[in-house]
Amino acid sequence: MAVWNFSAGPSKLPTEVLEQAAAEMLDWHGSGMSVMEMSHRGAEFTQICDEAEDDLRTLMAIPDDYAVMFMQGGATAENAIIPMNLLETRPAKTADYVLTGSWSVKSYKEAQRFGQINVAATSKSVREFEGKTYGEFCWVPDVNEWKVNPEASYLHICTNETIGGVEMFEMPNMANLGVADVPLALDMSSHILARPFDVTQAGLIYAGAQKNAGPAGVTIVIVKRDLLGKAMPYCPSAFDFANVAAERSRFNTPPTYSIYICGLVFKWLLKNGGLTAMAARNQAKADCLYNALDASDFYHNMVHPAYRSQMNVPFILRDESLNSAFLEGAKQRGLLALKGHKSVGGMRASIYNAMPLEGVQALVDYLKEFERSHG
Ligand code: PMP
Repeated sequence: MAVWNFSAGPSKLPTEVLEQAAAEMLDWHGSGMSVMEMSHRGAEFTQICDEAEDDLRTLMAIPDDYAVMFMQGGATAENAIIPMNLLETRPAKTADYVLTGSWSVKSYKEAQRFGQINVAATSKSVREFEGKTYGEFCWVPDVNEWKVNPEASYLHICTNETIGGVEMFEMPNMANLGVADVPLALDMSSHILARPFDVTQAGLIYAGAQKNAGPAGVTIVIVKRDLLGKAMPYCPSAFDFANVAAERSRFNTPPTYSIYICGLVFKWLLKNGGLTAMAARNQAKADCLYNALDASDFYHNMVHPAYRSQMNVPFILRDESLNSAFLEGAKQRGLLALKGHKSVGGMRASIYNAMPLEGVQALVDYLKEFERSHG
């Protein structure tokens, strides 16, 4: 039976990548060593790591004035590492955060430990749009309502809220908001590499790898070089971007195997048409699933249509007493990890780059079948 894994992360990886990793497990390219056994300073791993960086640069068209780093600690550690590195880049030493769901709230709370942090906008309220009511964190505040401090060292946004399934498809134009000097710091953990993205819109991008880029254990950080070198005095040296960037991710021992797998994923993406091809594929998958949900009164997605995530699709069964039966039936058909996050309940299907349309179609067939038998 084919198994389709809808986990929010760590999540499905491309089968070809896993097959290649298996084939190379004991002997990487005739070296006689597994990648896990290599010195992080040896010629082999240096090649693997630099190639992963170069391929990521190609995929995302990252210019040279941005450093690309593979770090540890996950996006959660970055929530502290970023203020430690960026708060003191400007004299006011403050930062602004936009709150659109669980992950941005977590980032905001962590940053508060390091300085004066302001909320530029929040969707933590119920709002009506064209006669329809949307709940807390099921929409995104209009950019014109954001109150960004022109003195802020950065403006933090979580561009895809993995739990709420809320995605921002356009970044604010900071010059139009009158805050051209405030760089964006973006948590793109759950949709990095999902489509082309103009990196130069941001001062910093970070993403835990374990959704769209590879296995857990490595965090991708892309940062404009002119923001480096102003870390707070107590910032651990292994978390000072200037140190990590200067050593091309080898300031200390990096998560070598995770970086290797990310590198294989980047090559898989390049081979399969890059991010433009991914964008088309992801749009088709999201349309397939949202259309099925919208066509039925049995299921419901709570997010404002303009901000529905193409990666994480939360939905509820109108009759929540059927949740266990739904999940059990799904599991029997090889449709795994559909249970929603514990904080919101219901269901969630995460359909990252590695999930083919076929997997989404299998889910849609099951949605229809379950409704027929229980509706
Ligand atoms: N930000 C977002 C958007 C996430 O989805 C996650 C993980 N689900 C995190 C941050 C935290 O990542 P980690 O567990 O790697 O620290």
